[in-house]
Amino acid sequence: MVMALTYLTKRKQLTLFPKQVFILGFIAFLCLFSHVSVASATSINAVRMWTAPDHTRLVFDLSQSVQYDLFRLHNPERVVIDIQKTKMNANVSKLDLPDPVLLSIRHGKQSKGTTRIVLDVKAGVSPRSFLLKKAKGKPHRLVIDLTPKQKKVIKSKTQQPKNKHKDIIIAVDAGHGGEDPGAIGPNKLYEKQITLGIAKRLADMINAQAGMQAVLVRNGDYFVKLRNRVKKVRSAGADMMISVHADAVKQRHVQGASVYTLSESGATPDRIAAALAAKENASDLIGGVMPGQEVSDPFIRNILGDMAKRDGLDSSEMFANLILTQLKQGLPVKYGKPKHARFAVLTALEIPSVLVEVDYISNPKRERLLRTKAHQQKLAKAMFTATKSYFTRMGRLHEATPTIHTVHQGDSLWSIAKKYGVSVSSILKLNALKQQALKVGQRLRMPQS
Ligand SMILES: [Zn+2]
Repeated sequence: MVMALTYLTKRKQLTLFPKQVFILGFIAFLCLFSHVSVASATSINAVRMWTAPDHTRLVFDLSQSVQYDLFRLHNPERVVIDIQKTKMNANVSKLDLPDPVLLSIRHGKQSKGTTRIVLDVKAGVSPRSFLLKKAKGKPHRLVIDLTPKQKKVIKSKTQQPKNKHKDIIIAVDAGHGGEDPGAIGPNKLYEKQITLGIAKRLADMINAQAGMQAVLVRNGDYFVKLRNRVKKVRSAGADMMISVHADAVKQRHVQGASVYTLSESGATPDRIAAALAAKENASDLIGGVMPGQEVSDPFIRNILGDMAKRDGLDSSEMFANLILTQLKQGLPVKYGKPKHARFAVLTALEIPSVLVEVDYISNPKRERLLRTKAHQQKLAKAMFTATKSYFTRMGRLHEATPTIHTVHQGDSLWSIAKKYGVSVSSILKLNALKQQALKVGQRLRMPQS
């Protein structure tokens, strides 16, 4: 286009008839105009969808920031997004739809280069949107959160004592998720995948233990902002919080686990730990939190100022040591003592809260292992054993308490027996069962293997 312009300009200098000059000038103007408009058109390069239990998030990758309008249309329910001067280069048909709130998505071209995206949604869905600037290797993004109508919780007297046996509640937090993959291994294993795998295994072990109950902070591939993780831990009335992560460094040979607790202000500064905390705290930026609502360091400092909650720090230290003791039995450990830094996710100071970096995903050998169920099970077991010994020391758990298995869909006596390494007949005998048929939700005592 630029070449054609130069050529035409040259010809203009050769022939100076007024009419031709006018036509050439007009063509040159058109060329210039179209050139400018092509350069300024933003493209939507990709779209992703994450389904969380309480909302669905759509993320559009943009080549640059945009101007957009969002509005709703009813009968049928739709959310419409008009993005100015934009081309759609993303394949929206690849999204796994319908989802619990988003039924379908389509797009079309409006006048003046506006791209219109129409989301067919379930009734009562409220949309929220925001733009994210280019950050931490992520492009400019437009985030649309679709929140379904809240189901009214009818509090009846029978529902009130949710935790009537006063079980010990352990919050298990799988790091990252959704937009935020966490660290990425050389063979493309995402930290968010292994953290969820280990967290679920750990939660299963906790739920199988009589007197203990697990709460998973996230149980699928979606993003939960750091502040909401802490909120969820608190609202669950958790007695302890374990946040599961995996680290990555440039040096491929580095391996082993490390355990972190929140530092007190004035503690010996540890630059490596501080850098790690900064990396983990950046999760909000990558995962997508409305600008201005990210966790900032003063927020953490405020919490640290609350000395009434100091006890949580001491017990965190004790629990961190117990985890390290367990990990050292057969698993590589990077730092033999708990380390400290300002992790935003550890700010529920009233309870012992630790962050475990289970290993280095950047080490190809460890990455291969971390992918396996057996290794995830081993890591979960170490954390579980530490949890048990913590509460045993606290006098809240008794060693002899039997293991309980809650029957899930698809369980058979045979599969349960295999899982616990016991015989079918021993389960039948211990639970005084006459028949082999099981009911979902049925609780079975497991014989000691
Ligand atoms: Zn992490």
